[in-house]
Amino acid sequence: MNGTFFIVMGPTGSGKSTLMKHVIAQFPDVLVPPSFTTRDRRPSEIENSHYTFVDKNTFTAMVEKGEFLEWAEFSGNFYGTLKETVIVPLAEGKVLFTEMEVQGVRQARALLPAEQVKVVFIDAGPWEELEARIRARAPITDEEIAKRKQRYEDEMTYKDEADIVISNHSGEIETAKETFANLIRDAIHAS
Ligand code: 5GP
Repeated sequence: MNGTFFIVMGPTGSGKSTLMKHVIAQFPDVLVPPSFTTRDRRPSEIENSHYTFVDKNTFTAMVEKGEFLEWAEFSGNFYGTLKETVIVPLAEGKVLFTEMEVQGVRQARALLPAEQVKVVFIDAGPWEELEARIRARAPITDEEIAKRKQRYEDEMTYKDEADIVISNHSGEIETAKETFANLIRDAIHAS
């Protein structure tokens, strides 16, 4: 039984969610363990969100009971993945994937068999490309842009921790989808 847990990380706006949605649609048997978060639900997340939204007290109680495989604070909110939604399916040989920021990636790596964890970093290219995409998506203040840039610079430093880097510069989304799908296909064949 060779289960694989793909963990996707990459800067905000790198196209992580687009790639995830593509793979979920293409491989219905791949499991996506839900993430718990204390952040507010966005209008686009009314249905089919991979998040379970909880308040801070509930989240803290779950941390104290040791229910999380990993959890982290990001931008003032908590995010975490349950042990039970990863450890058992992985041991049974399933293919799973989710997205996480770097602190969670490190905790998951520390707890799970090394050969069953594949960290995929989505490289969105230079800041100028990302900035253009962010500005095209919605109006944004200069202050917010400066914060995003700082975060982008931090997030790019974690690229070296990944097992696989998928390039998703502007104009590369179709190739990136294909590369990602091939990874999943190979893992399914090996399972
Ligand atoms: P957002 O609030 O924009 O959906 O996500 C913010 C950050 O939290 C992203 O970097 C995302 O990958 C990360 N994230 C989402 N779910 C989890 C999780 O279950 N655990 C951890 N550690 N990070 C998560």
